[in-house]
Amino acid sequence: MYPRVVVRLDHLRENVKVVRELCEKNHISITGVTKVFRGDPKIAQCYLDGGLTMLGDSRTENLERMQSLPAEKWLIRPPMLSRAAETARYADAALHSEWQVIEAVAAEAEKLGKKHKVILMADLGDIREGYVDYDELLRVAARVDTLPGAELYGLGVNLTCFSFIQPDEEKMQLLAELARKAEEAAGHPLQVVSGGNSATLDLMLRGGIPTGINDLRLGESLLFGKERAKYQYLPGTHRDVFTLECEIVELKEKPSLPWGQVGVDSYGNKPTFCDRGQHRKKAVCALGRQDFDAETCTPLDPGVIILGASSDHLMLDVTDSEKEYRVGDIVQLQLGYFSTMRAFTSEYVEKVYLG
Ligand SMILES: *Cc1c(COP(=O)(O)O)cnc(C)c1O
Repeated sequence: MYPRVVVRLDHLRENVKVVRELCEKNHISITGVTKVFRGDPKIAQCYLDGGLTMLGDSRTENLERMQSLPAEKWLIRPPMLSRAAETARYADAALHSEWQVIEAVAAEAEKLGKKHKVILMADLGDIREGYVDYDELLRVAARVDTLPGAELYGLGVNLTCFSFIQPDEEKMQLLAELARKAEEAAGHPLQVVSGGNSATLDLMLRGGIPTGINDLRLGESLLFGKERAKYQYLPGTHRDVFTLECEIVELKEKPSLPWGQVGVDSYGNKPTFCDRGQHRKKAVCALGRQDFDAETCTPLDPGVIILGASSDHLMLDVTDSEKEYRVGDIVQLQLGYFSTMRAFTSEYVEKVYLG
């Protein structure tokens, strides 16, 4: 059935092994982030096969899907107050930035006879989640262990996700320093100091992570073999873990430029078109923005040009391909981050596993 996403599990296992060994050399453990593929247990299992012992997801629904996997599970988005019970049930640990929520999750954990592990987030400039008042963070650090259903597990930071502020040595030093102070405030060592996501890998490879930071939460680098500060591919990794296959439903010669009066798209932008001539072979595929993201995927056939997509149609120019495409043929797209996320979220896309 098409469209379908083909997942190369063997390549993913190899990616995990390569990145894990890189991190081990730097005394850093990896929390494998599963949100891109909605916590699909078959794929998350590859993280464990590759040697990881901790999994992280931003949604409790995804943690629930992975509940039978033998790993420590982290909720990596501040928990919803309305989901305190699910957080306590499905997450062993969570990234926190609100005392009220910590109390609520701890109360639910206590009911289950558990101790919820609290990782406090510091905002070091990206202006997403975390305390910007570091004294407040330390006051909370001192209080967590007073809750019977919670323990202070560690500190964390997230960068390069909203404002695209890059991790640097100074910020990592500050996090390590905050961790030392939090240990003093809590009166015991912290088990986890989590220095960020795939954007921190480049700094790690340059030797810029100080002692005291011992964890990274990685998604993109494991799945696509790419660090996220300079978007470089890591040697020895595969880029083809996720391929999307879609079917051509129309194939006709059409001009490259539209005709008639041009309006604006749903975002209020006037579309622009590239003039490649009057006689182009155009394919329409049964795939749309509901299932993928045209900006973060590449056709496997170098002769295929993505012209754009609407919610349910993908328009391709296949004139320059060496292949003679016909209606009913399948076109393959190499998926990047957001495309993969959409493909996994779309119910219309079948999931197929290889290796
Ligand atoms: C998504 C996310 C990650 C993983 O980011 P990658 O760039 O995919 O490695 C890590 N931490 C948090 C808090 C996240 O939301």
